[in-house]
Amino acid sequence: MIQNLNNNVRKVKPSATLVINELSAQLKREGREIYSLGFGQSPFPVPESIVKSLQENAFQKDYLPVKGLLQLRMAVAQFFNKQYELSVSEEDILIGPGSKELIYNFQLVYNIEELLLPSPSWVSYEPQASLLGNKVKWITTNELNSWKISSDDIEEICKNSPKINRTIILNYPSNPLGVTYSSGELQKLTNVFKKYNITVIADEIYGEIHHDGDHQTIAKYYPERTIVSSGLSKWAGAGGWRLGVFVFPENMRYVLDAMGTVASETYTTTSAPIQYAAVTAYNGDESINLYLKNVRSILKTVGQFVYKKLMGIGVTMPEPEGGFYLFPNFNNWKVALNKRRINSSKEFCNQLLKDTGVALLPGEDFGHPSNNLTARLSFVDFDGGHLLNIIKDNDSLHLNDEFVELHCPKISESIVKIKNWLESY
Ligand code: PLP
Repeated sequence: MIQNLNNNVRKVKPSATLVINELSAQLKREGREIYSLGFGQSPFPVPESIVKSLQENAFQKDYLPVKGLLQLRMAVAQFFNKQYELSVSEEDILIGPGSKELIYNFQLVYNIEELLLPSPSWVSYEPQASLLGNKVKWITTNELNSWKISSDDIEEICKNSPKINRTIILNYPSNPLGVTYSSGELQKLTNVFKKYNITVIADEIYGEIHHDGDHQTIAKYYPERTIVSSGLSKWAGAGGWRLGVFVFPENMRYVLDAMGTVASETYTTTSAPIQYAAVTAYNGDESINLYLKNVRSILKTVGQFVYKKLMGIGVTMPEPEGGFYLFPNFNNWKVALNKRRINSSKEFCNQLLKDTGVALLPGEDFGHPSNNLTARLSFVDFDGGHLLNIIKDNDSLHLNDEFVELHCPKISESIVKIKNWLESY
């Protein structure tokens, strides 16, 4: 009986994403061809040296320390110091079973009077806040600024109530936008975050797959109140391994400790073999560097292909810079679509899927106003392992549109499907 459920749990509704996934599964069972552009998983295999390390550590059976294996915490600290010019130590690192769990536990232990979320943001932040009864304030953005937040937006929200304890979750490269913040933008945001003592969760889970390998962290400019969230799921293609990391500033060690206490009373620690393998991942090696270089070029090529094709037919969106998402806006077809009773992003995605087999996720699931005909498109319906092999065997191969058409046929076909469908309206 539903009444027996906790009130906060009852408030969290099944998402439109679930509806799209169920509809995709049903259409597949009916024999329809589905173009899975709704899925948010890396298409690439885990780098071989990391897999090998997991195999070699399968025998590790003991519970590890609650905050994570010391060797791994050291490797993660070193990685962030070298890569992003931070100066953290192993004592500042918390390992968890996925960054999603860490973000939830952070929201559990920290005093958050108001959680600021840019609209759109990743699907899970808001439901996590609802489960905990935390208040969310969505920050309105506009397409002219690539749907990103600006320091003026923060100023506007905070100026009349400057004393509220606010936390923001800022995700870049962004899921669902595909865009990121430049160092200049991060510095400007830092000024206003400092002014209002805002705590930042910098969700940088896509940082390593910035398409030009040029990711910057806000922790460099605002170390005193930034916690960086990352993990193996996206850059190492290891979502199912469940390993996330939080990098804390020294003065927030008490938060790390509190999250350790929660861990000790809930999940205990992250799987031991996975943590040992993650040491290899964070120490890095030549083969991992080459893997990342190739993964970035493939994502850049495919992202640019889809971006250009859709822009060419009047679908607008920010140009992708990292990760594997785009956030197309179909408002240029609004009048025609409205006539066919498509008035919300959810109705748009449902109809597109039914008519063409192309699955996108509705913008409203990411906190975007539902009457905006926006959607998240994830351009990973291709065999990443196969593509990496092709590149490995052919040094002089030029990645371009023909490469995408030849080796990512479902991506190019799906764009034709979307185009034909829109033009039939
Ligand atoms: N943050 C963002 C923006 C994501 O897209 C995801 C996964 O889809 C996560 C966090 C969670 O990653 P994990 O829990 O696998 O570390």
